Amino acid sequence: MSLTLIQGSYIIAGLLFILSLAGLSKHETAEGGNRNGILGMGAALIITILAAVVGIDAANSADDRTGSGVTGLALLLLAMVIGAAIGIWKARKVEMTGMPELIALLHSFVGLAAVLVGFNSFFDAEHRIEQAGGIADNVADLAGSLGPIHSGEVFIGVFIGAVTFTGSIVAYLKLSAKMKSAPLMLPGHNWLNLGAIGLFLVLTAVFIKRPGIGLLVGMTIIALALGFHLVASIGGGDMPVVVSMLNSYSGWAAAAAGFMLNNDLLIITGALVGSSGAFLSYIMCKGMGRSFINVIAGGFGSDGGVVGEAKDYGEHREIDAEGTAELLLDAKSVVITPGYGMAVAQAQYPVAEITSVLRQRGIDVRFGIHPVAGRLPGHMNVLLAEAKVPYDIVLEMDEINDDLAGTDVVLVIGANDTVNPSALDDPASPIAGMPVLRVWESANVIVFKRSMATGYAGVQNPLFFKENTAMLFGDAKQRVDDILRAVQEKVASPV
Ligand code: NDP
Repeated sequence: MSLTLIQGSYIIAGLLFILSLAGLSKHETAEGGNRNGILGMGAALIITILAAVVGIDAANSADDRTGSGVTGLALLLLAMVIGAAIGIWKARKVEMTGMPELIALLHSFVGLAAVLVGFNSFFDAEHRIEQAGGIADNVADLAGSLGPIHSGEVFIGVFIGAVTFTGSIVAYLKLSAKMKSAPLMLPGHNWLNLGAIGLFLVLTAVFIKRPGIGLLVGMTIIALALGFHLVASIGGGDMPVVVSMLNSYSGWAAAAAGFMLNNDLLIITGALVGSSGAFLSYIMCKGMGRSFINVIAGGFGSDGGVVGEAKDYGEHREIDAEGTAELLLDAKSVVITPGYGMAVAQAQYPVAEITSVLRQRGIDVRFGIHPVAGRLPGHMNVLLAEAKVPYDIVLEMDEINDDLAGTDVVLVIGANDTVNPSALDDPASPIAGMPVLRVWESANVIVFKRSMATGYAGVQNPLFFKENTAMLFGDAKQRVDDILRAVQEKVASPV
């Protein structure tokens, strides 16, 4: 195997990753995008393993033929089999609603890997000095062996990795409800974050001149604390931004590991994940009405938004499946706005079925998707695609909001925060400023949920008490099944 072959394969893998991202940006091309991603990753994996085994270092343009050989290959394969077995087991076991926390956990592994690679690079430099007969803790020798650029790479790589690691662990704990989702509000929390970043910059300059394990460990502790604090200070509705931001951080952590390992492919892949994650964060910030600058500065645009007090909004009205079926059959236009509860109930299949029955009767049925509905960017789109809902009737919030006023019936299936009017008219609300689906402008709103409980942000929803709103209590899947049955009976024997 030649160096050219490796470099050529890296370029092909990089191109496949770019095609994959481009494909994933649209429903229609997402499957092809996924295929390209798998092909690219497969090619990258095979070529990297073969190169390591025969001892070709593509990044250094060197062919040293001191590869890890058969023992190395056996060890790599063993690690891969163990990793793949855990991955397959987890992927089969995880519920769709558990995906966000699983992804957060996986991000933490990328962060941890970058930290370990960084420390390994440092110890490797010490080892090289010892082999050359020098003294490993001699600062001048160490600075010479690491070199200023590599010192910077190690320090920055470990920093990004450590922030990603603890940040992702906290996100995992919050998303899986193992930790309170309410924000941790230390006094001057934004200044603490900025102070930690400032200190890191100063220490980087010192480390490049006088590298030492004490400095590296000290900075790692600061970065671990910063990662914890950044995410712990985020509460309720702002979590989507954190999830996508950590996605971006994990990409930069991988790119940093690529610099430390001199692996071009890892740098390209990490940069692609990092930049696409940052762009996704920008979209999420827009969706949440939050400032992107605040997010990257570590302030996350939040003063902590305290969970609103329980106000008395009056009485709510209830409806049953039969009544909902009648409303639907009398309607000319219906909009369905799904949320996290649809994912919990796995109601997307009967929802797709009822959509098809109503459309066959000439009723205009469309979906309105809020950018942060569910617990994962694109969560609702994935569920609806899984249930084979046609893409052309699935619209983004901005595309459908102005049509809601002329809609006969809106079905709010397991959504809460994303249809909460207080985001627009209560400046004290923790979700104030977040654009929402203005479902209350339609003639009739039916809200599917099991109780009057609050949504993810812990905020009461005045929508439930509006005159044109009726609550349909129970598990969303069971209720949609009931409505489907009632619709079919009414269609079969009209009175
Ligand atoms: P919410 O989380 O606000 O509300 C979901 C509602 O579903 C609850 O009020 C719950 O009420 C109901 N529900 C739960 N299970 C069922 C069931 N089996 N049947 C019927 N209803 C059910 O949902 P939204 O999608 O509107 O909002 C998403 C929230 O999550 C936002 O605050 C967003 O910021 C946050 N978030 C989003 C992320 C993303 O990337 N999309 C990531 C992290 C957080 P009840 O218990 O009464 O049934």
